[in-house]
Amino acid sequence: MLSNDSIHALTDTHCHILHMINKTTLSAFSNSEIQEIRKILHQASLKNVSNIFEIGTTKIDSVLSIELAKLFKNIFPVIGVHPHEATDNYQNDVLFLKNLLDEHHEKIVGIGECGLDKHYPDHNLNAQIALFKSQIELALKYNKALVVHTRDAEDETYAVLEQYKDQLKRVTIHCYSNSLNFAQQITSWGWFLGIGGTVTYPKNNLLRDVVKTVGINALVLETDAPFLPPQIIRGKQNSPEQIFTIAHYVAELLEISFEDVASVTTANAEKLFQASTSTDVA
Ligand SMILES: [Zn+2]
Repeated sequence: MLSNDSIHALTDTHCHILHMINKTTLSAFSNSEIQEIRKILHQASLKNVSNIFEIGTTKIDSVLSIELAKLFKNIFPVIGVHPHEATDNYQNDVLFLKNLLDEHHEKIVGIGECGLDKHYPDHNLNAQIALFKSQIELALKYNKALVVHTRDAEDETYAVLEQYKDQLKRVTIHCYSNSLNFAQQITSWGWFLGIGGTVTYPKNNLLRDVVKTVGINALVLETDAPFLPPQIIRGKQNSPEQIFTIAHYVAELLEISFEDVASVTTANAEKLFQASTSTDVA
């Protein structure tokens, strides 16, 4: 069970604490790094953000996310390689992830972020597709949640996911930024949309329409910290405590109570990740 001992416990389903503290090399956490992380978690706990999912983007931060989860009970590790990292050598990455899964099967709760991203002109789409499919296969083989990243590649992402829609049960489309039609398809398969700070951006009527159309039962909340700060702190570093801001915003948008947003999205996160570690925020 995710922690919802305290009333209205919130869950950040997509965070990069390692990026927040600029930890990019494979080494033990220093005392000052641990202090920094404690501070982030403490600030989050003051806003009732009790569960945080640390998402991998590279081999290094996948390893470190597992180490983080060993140190802090309310951090849950998700391991994966981001499409920006896709090379023709992708099989090495897949093998690396597979070895981590064999070694830390109990601890790891998901695979990702993985997917397709055509935003930059030098993307290697073939390698991205191969790496994405391999990570989907890992999620299936090890029965883990799948955390999907898709940017400027809706059709290609749909084509891949559609092939697995009957087998994959636990999926979130992180930082949802796709069409209403895609949202309706994805949620009809029982999958979740990850909603974060971008829903608060003045121009983002499309995402607000998506949220209103699919409803709270199809949503999980995320910050993607240190990226994508909500409008009230735009330009500053994002952090997991901002789930509180996002939850309030979604409550107003859907005209439901904050308590309902908190309890439903935390329950959805629990369904998504089947995270079994009970947590206490220090
Ligand atoms: Zn991310």
